[in-house]
Amino acid sequence: MEDLVLKGVSKSFGNTRAVEPTDLTFAQGQLTALLGPSGCGKTTLLRMIAGLEMPSTGTIRLGGKDITSLPADKRKFGMVFQSFALFPHYSVRENVAYSLTISGMGKAAAFEKANTLLETVRLDGFGDRRIGELSGGQRQRVAIARALAQEPSVFLLDEPMPALDAKLREEMQGELRLLQERLGITTIVVTHDQREAMTMADQIVVMSNGRVEQIANPKEIYHAPANAFVADFIGKANFFDGVIEAGKVRVGDLAFDNTASFVEGSKVRLAIRPERASLESLPGTNKVPGKVIFVRDLGPVREYHVDSQIGPIIVECATGEAGPDLSTGDTTEVHMPPEALQVFPQARA
Ligand code: ATP
Repeated sequence: MEDLVLKGVSKSFGNTRAVEPTDLTFAQGQLTALLGPSGCGKTTLLRMIAGLEMPSTGTIRLGGKDITSLPADKRKFGMVFQSFALFPHYSVRENVAYSLTISGMGKAAAFEKANTLLETVRLDGFGDRRIGELSGGQRQRVAIARALAQEPSVFLLDEPMPALDAKLREEMQGELRLLQERLGITTIVVTHDQREAMTMADQIVVMSNGRVEQIANPKEIYHAPANAFVADFIGKANFFDGVIEAGKVRVGDLAFDNTASFVEGSKVRLAIRPERASLESLPGTNKVPGKVIFVRDLGPVREYHVDSQIGPIIVECATGEAGPDLSTGDTTEVHMPPEALQVFPQARA
């Protein structure tokens, strides 16, 4: 297997530690998303993998071969970075075919392949246009097609679709994913868009402050976040600080049954996703009285903002289902089932 394996890879710029020592495996044919807030080190990590930045420590291996010091052009990885340089005076087709013709493929065959790739990125019919005659999003797709022309074993993308509108962006994510699966290319996508990561990735690496917080598939990242940072960064969550007393989490005057096991007296952070909390009068424990302060209709879901003695709580209900019919000012009770509660240590290790 041509797995890409990072061992102890870090990067410092002067006194700035952009990436802490990191171990990561990118399995052959898988799509990994590097996800995290601005400045967390995603691009630096990607640039080290690309060979554009030399790691301060550690090794990078592809299929067992040490490529840490191999220059970028010798790695033959496909790359689409934020500032992709297309040739402005060439046509779209010539841009895509360029790397094929310089590596010896005949012009007719290279153009035919370019046409197929342009179809894949939904730019069929655009082959004869100049780059200057394209929108930002269309240029982006030319860059993707060009990077894939050489059938690279590793494909690196840094924020590949910021210039696209939401609908086209979603379509392109689906297309790119299908294409990547079909070609079986190990792919790494840097993004700060959690939806993009969840839509496309086999594996998500969540980063903050130069370090990896969690590596898991999208489902696990969402439903079993490793810590409060991940729970907060991915999706929405309500948080409450509390302390473990007799196995329950005490928050103010209330005590919550839960399924976590913490030592008595531990300071913890309790979290619940808005869609896991409920305003139905269900049997069981963990009920918080409150008052609806406003209601937001977001199409498929309705969001209730509830003020309670432990702080504000957002509850999300699917519209269309027989849900609560509450308005601003109504009193209610928020039910937080024990199995829906996530409990994290308050201070991070
Ligand atoms: P964004 O989403 O904003 O692109 P990022 O997660 O990709 O952010 P990086 O670009 O990897 O973050 O930057 C990580 C840290 O390293 C930041 O604090 C940044 O200022 C710093 N950094 C990056 N490149 C350099 C450089 N060439 N010289 C000095 N510091 C740098």
